Amino acid sequence: MKIAVCPGSFDPVTNGHLDIIERASQIFDQVVVGVLENPNKTPLFSVEERCDLLTSVTRYLPNVKIDYFHGLLVDFAEKHGAQVIVKGLRAVSDFEIEFQMALANKRLKPTIETMFIMTRHEYSFLSSSIVKQVFELGGRLPGLLPPAVEVALQEKFQRRVK
Ligand code: ADP
Repeated sequence: MKIAVCPGSFDPVTNGHLDIIERASQIFDQVVVGVLENPNKTPLFSVEERCDLLTSVTRYLPNVKIDYFHGLLVDFAEKHGAQVIVKGLRAVSDFEIEFQMALANKRLKPTIETMFIMTRHEYSFLSSSIVKQVFELGGRLPGLLPPAVEVALQEKFQRRVK
């Protein structure tokens, strides 16, 4: 059984992430989305909220499951029996850091491969941080977010304004 992990912060999940997860799910028998719990960062959504949103937006993909992790990604991959780490690539700017991480992970666990799936051009500028900036300023991004995520973002920022 070929298993892949798709890691990230997913704060929150966008259609760009979902596109990569869906395409990975067509290639691998199982995809485990790994939600990074980073104690050094304060995310907008808690790890539980990020996992719940991912669970709800990937419900139509039966071979995708969601879990969270802290610590080394290769340990998380090994725990799930995954042979491959799948990442999305948006632009040249993603390449340098991804290249570094892939080589570090290879050194840590040579049996695990990192593979990249190229973004769709319509999502090539899309990141969780730009989404948060736009919503914080009262803007919307039609077609770039799952509806449940739009609702969650609106609620988050309404609550902050009050
Ligand atoms: P972000 O940079 O949006 O905060 P994450 O840290 O959650 O994203 O990224 C998780 C993975 O998803 C990374 O491999 C990242 O390159 C990929 N990814 C994020 N947004 C997109 C997108 N719009 N298209 C393709 N891949 C993406």
